[in-house]
Amino acid sequence: MKPLYLDHNATTPLRAEAKEAWLQAVDQLQGNPSSVHAAGRNARAMIDEARERTAAALGVLEDEILFTSGGTEANNLAILGGMGSLDPKARLITTTVEHPAVLEALRPLGSAGRDLEKVGVGSDGHVDLEALVNACKPGDMLAAMAANNEIGNVTDLAQLGGLLDKAFPEQRPLFFTDAVQALGRIPVRLHDWGVDLATFSAHKVGGPQGVGLLYKKAGTPLEPRQWGGGQEGGLRAGTENVAGIVSASVAVELAVKEQESYAQHTSALLLHLWQQLVDKIPGILRNGPQLQDPMRLPNTLNILLPHTDGQVLITRLDLLGLQASAGSACASGSLEPSHVLKAVGLSDQQARAGLRLSLALSTTKTVINNAVDILSGICTSRHNC
Ligand code: PLP
Repeated sequence: MKPLYLDHNATTPLRAEAKEAWLQAVDQLQGNPSSVHAAGRNARAMIDEARERTAAALGVLEDEILFTSGGTEANNLAILGGMGSLDPKARLITTTVEHPAVLEALRPLGSAGRDLEKVGVGSDGHVDLEALVNACKPGDMLAAMAANNEIGNVTDLAQLGGLLDKAFPEQRPLFFTDAVQALGRIPVRLHDWGVDLATFSAHKVGGPQGVGLLYKKAGTPLEPRQWGGGQEGGLRAGTENVAGIVSASVAVELAVKEQESYAQHTSALLLHLWQQLVDKIPGILRNGPQLQDPMRLPNTLNILLPHTDGQVLITRLDLLGLQASAGSACASGSLEPSHVLKAVGLSDQQARAGLRLSLALSTTKTVINNAVDILSGICTSRHNC
């Protein structure tokens, strides 16, 4: 049997259209986009068109989109470049459940003596928006993720943006969101959210791995984090991944177009998945927001099977033909408990055992039913879960 893939938050397969666009771009590509000759100009035109398509899909201006090597680089640039552009006394306020590409980007700031504050979350993963705003002072930076990759809680960014406007009529904090898991899964409304900076990653929406996007609202201050070229308005030095960028723009366009059907399809399947699991596995627990919670990702389920160890479980499931994740993919090579599950109140042992199942538009009911059989099978086997 073909392995069952329920790890779409880690990465989702390349879309046929994005692959085709990549192949065509590679075929056509000869020059470096920074060269002034015809081959260079041709490569530059390919990036320009990709930027235009991406910006149109996200409802923003072309100049507001920067291409990077992925969500991680885009997050690092937003955090470090954003803080670098502010007063040295500016603080960074964030939440305890951000992706490591945000939390670990804070380290150099801490080493440099910058004041950092992480605001805790409730047992459903939601942060108290008022507490977040109250933690800020004029001219600080605020980083709050749009949607959590492990448990799927979604932040009401429009409300958060409104609270910031009200609390800081002048010198509003620089407002950044990691929207990597939001794109294609929930509506992305950058203007309604009122963010200054937002990040995305192509491979989470059927684009190629190794291409990220940074939205930088016109006029937002940002310092570069790498030097040696004038690419991306001088903010991201290095020859661009032209074919990857072209392919990413196609994936982003399609992800935005399909978002509603994606949400309908995956939320219905997720409900079916959870109901089946509850019926067949006594003692199973769910982590994160309620399934009925409107502020949750439609495709993400994080569970605790009774008496399991996350790492062993993932390997056993893999051998049985089910591919899923313990915590975030980036941390799953290690035995560290998930910082997100700890932040919502789980013990170290439980936080090591969380199992994330994440769906996509391509996921079928048969895949879900077969996955349930595998999960309930190991829970009733003599090895126990
Ligand atoms: N932010 C979030 C919320 C993510 O889920 C991920 C990937 O897991 C990233 C950032 C990093 O993106 P990339 O894999 O493109 O570096």
